[in-house]
Amino acid sequence: MESEGNKELAEKLRLLLILQTYDQRIKQNRQRLESWPNLVRDLDTEMENLNKDLEKALKELNDTKFRRKELEAKINDMEVKIKKKYLQLYEVKSNKDYQQMLEEIDEMKAKKSKIEDQVLELMEQTEAMEVKVKEKKAFVASKQTAVKEAKKELQKEMETLKESLERLERERHNLSLQVDPNLLSLYTRLMELKGAALSPVIKGVCQLCHLSIPPQKFIELLRCQTLMSCPNCERIIYWGEDELFANID
Ligand SMILES: [Zn+2]
Repeated sequence: MESEGNKELAEKLRLLLILQTYDQRIKQNRQRLESWPNLVRDLDTEMENLNKDLEKALKELNDTKFRRKELEAKINDMEVKIKKKYLQLYEVKSNKDYQQMLEEIDEMKAKKSKIEDQVLELMEQTEAMEVKVKEKKAFVASKQTAVKEAKKELQKEMETLKESLERLERERHNLSLQVDPNLLSLYTRLMELKGAALSPVIKGVCQLCHLSIPPQKFIELLRCQTLMSCPNCERIIYWGEDELFANID
């Protein structure tokens, strides 16, 4: 049979273990809350990049259209000039001048034809670009909806998290009032140093540093008569297979 002393220590340890579970949960919640601005920023950055990409595609499309208009204006200009030349042919007196003018007309026609080819090429490019821009616009729109939804979900999650954090901190505070002050200050120091103040020992092994506890110490631990620390990691140890410490979370 366990003595009253054992039960008292075991109960103290159990309380401390519950406190540790609270602290770990509080820490997790805080970390998630702290990551919130980054998560929102990532979503915004993704959207900004997609919008920039769309703007770039639109600019390329407009540039191409503008270039095409420029070339078409040039073609019109050349057509007027070629017509003028044809009319001038009637005024030419010598055969030589006539031949020279014909050559000039041919040259202009060749130039014009080259520009017309360029215009055709630009038309094809414009068509392809228009398809691409349309696709990008649709993608950005669907992404925009998804991002908006994701932000809403995130906002909801964070609000729930804030509420649960407040509740956990309140409960944690009340719990800490029940813990022996000396034990609490040891616990606090260990938590700050090691992230966890208590470690279960299972089959003679400290579960947080994985060191075997000397057999004599392990027997002592089973008796649960004095507060014990792991000889290696210095955390407060308890017998992890004791039912008293089960189902704490
Ligand atoms: Zn240890």
